[in-house]
Amino acid sequence: MTPDDQLVATRKQERRLTALIALAIVAAVTSFAFAAFTSVDAGRSAGDSSPSAIDQPTGKKRGAPGAEDGVLPDNASPFDTSLPGVAKLNPKLLKAIQQAATAMEADGITMHLTTGWRSKEYQEELLQKAIRKYGSEEKAREFVSSPEDSHHVTGNAVDVGPTDADDWINRKGARFGLCQTLSNEMWHFELATTPGGTCPPMQGSAR
Ligand SMILES: [Zn+2]
Repeated sequence: MTPDDQLVATRKQERRLTALIALAIVAAVTSFAFAAFTSVDAGRSAGDSSPSAIDQPTGKKRGAPGAEDGVLPDNASPFDTSLPGVAKLNPKLLKAIQQAATAMEADGITMHLTTGWRSKEYQEELLQKAIRKYGSEEKAREFVSSPEDSHHVTGNAVDVGPTDADDWINRKGARFGLCQTLSNEMWHFELATTPGGTCPPMQGSAR
């Protein structure tokens, strides 16, 4: 081997080493990205089965929606503004629903809210559950709307119980501006007319 040959051999080794290092960096970046992607995905599908799952780099917990997402306890009063699901309603709707609750109480009916305001995350969870139940998003959307479309997410809709209270609002709610707006949800009410006005025709799909 001449000195020139040795020089060439050394340069070849150097180039090979550089290529190996570059390859290692690419592999590391790729596996990190893949790990990040799959952990986010796993967190989504884990949903209600693992409420303490942490899937975000921020460490934010993602699991079953809670009170801060608008989940209400059984028989939640429309006057209990310690509940985010009640407090985050559009103030005009909240006032109307409280007035209706007071008026129906005089008729012997106690109103409760099953849902008021919902966070986008809660709405998304409901939609994903419905997709699992009905097998397709198209079918699920007949019963549950997307976070972008839901009037619960904007605080402009309430789901009321029991059935006697729904019936009461359907007969007398317009005096407070309250109307059933979806034909397939007799419990879902929005401010849809001026107080004492006439309710508009109902729509067919879920909100
Ligand atoms: Zn509703």
